[in-house]
Amino acid sequence: MFLEDAQGNLDVVFAKDGGMVEEFYAKKEEERRRKLIKLICYSVFFVLLCFLQIVLNRIIGNDADVEKYSLVTNFQGVISILQVLIIVSMVTTSKRGYYFALAAVVFDMVILGSMFIMLRAMDIVTGMAIIMVGGLICVIIHRYLVKLAENEQDLFVLANTDSLTELPNRRALKEKMNQALVDCKKNNTKLAIAMIDLDNFKNVNDTIGHEYGDQVLLHIAERWRKVMNDSDCLARLGGDEFAILIEDFQSVYELDEHLRQFMSAVEDKMELKGNEYYITASMGVAMFPSDTMDESQLLKYADMAMYAAKYQGKKRMCYFDGIMDDVLESAVHLESVIRHAVQSDSFSLVYQPQYTAEDKKLRGFETLIRLSDAKGKQVSPGDFIPVAEKSNLIIEVDRWVMRNSMNEFKAILAKTPDVLLSINISASHLIDPCFIDDLDGIIAETQFPPENLELELTESVFVESIDRAKDVMNKIKKRGIHIALDDFGTGYSSLGYLNELPIDLLKIDKIFVDSIKGDAQKESFVAAIISLSKIMKFAVISEGVEEESQLETLRKLGCDYIQGFIWGRPQLLSDIKEIL
Ligand code: C2E
Ligand code: CA
Ligand code: CA
Repeated sequence: MFLEDAQGNLDVVFAKDGGMVEEFYAKKEEERRRKLIKLICYSVFFVLLCFLQIVLNRIIGNDADVEKYSLVTNFQGVISILQVLIIVSMVTTSKRGYYFALAAVVFDMVILGSMFIMLRAMDIVTGMAIIMVGGLICVIIHRYLVKLAENEQDLFVLANTDSLTELPNRRALKEKMNQALVDCKKNNTKLAIAMIDLDNFKNVNDTIGHEYGDQVLLHIAERWRKVMNDSDCLARLGGDEFAILIEDFQSVYELDEHLRQFMSAVEDKMELKGNEYYITASMGVAMFPSDTMDESQLLKYADMAMYAAKYQGKKRMCYFDGIMDDVLESAVHLESVIRHAVQSDSFSLVYQPQYTAEDKKLRGFETLIRLSDAKGKQVSPGDFIPVAEKSNLIIEVDRWVMRNSMNEFKAILAKTPDVLLSINISASHLIDPCFIDDLDGIIAETQFPPENLELELTESVFVESIDRAKDVMNKIKKRGIHIALDDFGTGYSSLGYLNELPIDLLKIDKIFVDSIKGDAQKESFVAAIISLSKIMKFAVISEGVEEESQLETLRKLGCDYIQGFIWGRPQLLSDIKEIL
């Protein structure tokens, strides 16, 4: 009942939801039909009772036997009570029942004249009082029904929407998906479900607080609403997890184009509290019927594809494919290997030397972590670091590397006091509020001289918040510690921000160094980075140098330092001590 009032609210809640409202009203329509049938049954029963009353009246009229008279009138009393109950039931069934009840009373009066008989027997005041009390009861019942309908409508909205973004929630999405799948099967069409999870959103909450974290979610939901098609259903599943149901697409190419709009809508710069933030997302996509004909699997597959995107380094889209099961299984396994290594202290460290390009003078060593699984097989950090980042174990891993490398490297400093120890710091640790305390604590604990320490950061720290990263970097600099920007050119790569940051060294990534062997365009990119660093007064180091020809070119271009297999592989500290 009162659908007109509900319509306005729900249209707002499920704006562009692609059919939630219609579904709600279809259900209501069904309910109305059921109630109507109920009312008709009540009416038939009521009329039958009326005729029974007439028959009983006749019996008393024809036969004045006192015993029989009292028996029949008692029975009539019971029937009257039944009739009253039917009228009450009609009124409480629905608004329409109100009219049914009125019709029943009129029918009763006309056919039996019972009300007239009753009123005639009473005085006028009692008659008026009965009518007023009756009217009052009707008004109370009416108001109760209105309230009930409003509550029902509120409950529906509450149960199906996310209170923050006012998007449909997981429950609503599932309902919508089930309906969409029925349509797909009927019309032979396709359907896709994309799961989106924001990358490192925990850090956003930790650094700017939950209140502003909510603002970020609202901004993103707003941007997505702008790129949605009318038939899409966007839902928030909880936290920083969202899903989009896409029904109306002709080809995977078209779907891909459309989903990429959602990805770039997240990545656009966001301004909050006067600061700039860069958020990224990971997305997993599963399709019906190409990935599965089983609807219960569809959400699971999209979820698995999303996890695969995370494990592959985040900020990407991944389509479900059959081998994903294995990939995820190995990621879950890897997570337990890392957790075990953290608990049992079973990582190890190797050190790779860095030299001046011109005359091969030792600059320092980059420490690199090593891990072997239960069978003693080496697991590459390129594989397990992204898994550690995904599961937040990375902070433990980073702490382990900082503590152990600073501790053991003091033996090297005793022999060569001027060399640097470079430690890789993961972006999510650097941004974490605990980072500076961790750093100070470990330096104090190991008594490591800060001027011999260099921290390698990647450009991904700027993706989350350039201001936050700048703030932490300034604190690091203030302690006399060097800062290197690792993997330069592979990530965020906006040159504009570089001169605002206290960077000492740019590390040119191996993929650019590799290209020196042939790709003229990439070679000129390396040349450009080197000349830019000269202008900005950063030193430059090239990573992954393997060949003499690369070394020659890098020297010619003015690269300051070299790190690569050509002059030294990562080695155990004990081996380095011997060389020194
Ligand atoms: P990265 O920081 O860019 O480290 C350089 C990687 O290139 C190392 O691989 C190193 O062994 C390799 N490399 C150096 N020179 C050459 C060369 O001439 N040729 C070839 N083919 N490779 C070379 P590794 O040790 O496997 O580390 C991979 C990545 O894992 C690192 O890349 C870094 O991102 C991460 N990682 C390693 N250790 C740590 C750590 O202690 N903490 C954190 N947070 N990340 C780490
Ligand atoms: Ca590094
Ligand atoms: Ca690197």
